[in-house]
Amino acid sequence: MKRTGFKTCTACGCEKPLDAFAPDPSKKSGYSAHCKECRSKRSRDYYLRNREKRIAWQKQYTAANRAKVNAYHRAYYAKHYEEHLARNRAYYHRKRAERLARAEIPAPPEISYDSSKIDD
Ligand SMILES: [Zn+2]
Repeated sequence: MKRTGFKTCTACGCEKPLDAFAPDPSKKSGYSAHCKECRSKRSRDYYLRNREKRIAWQKQYTAANRAKVNAYHRAYYAKHYEEHLARNRAYYHRKRAERLARAEIPAPPEISYDSSKIDD
């Protein structure tokens, strides 16, 4: 008996909630036949099997489309400038804190006043 809101993955055979499947409008159910976990594993396996080919293709594409690739990166940088800045700032502060912790800079000594030595 099929539970509503659930679907069985044809790759791993597990019954999972619908949100574990990627939407696929070409399918009658509206969802991919393989769960996201299986799809992700398949694409990772594919990448690993074809890694060299993929890297070679990327290099070739970049060389042949230098202007297009540069324009894309410039546009991306302009669009994400604030995030970029925030990430760099966060990195700077994290690294600075790590450096200070490594150096074990002692906290400034507790200042104690000897009231008897204070002249009026
Ligand atoms: Zn699966």
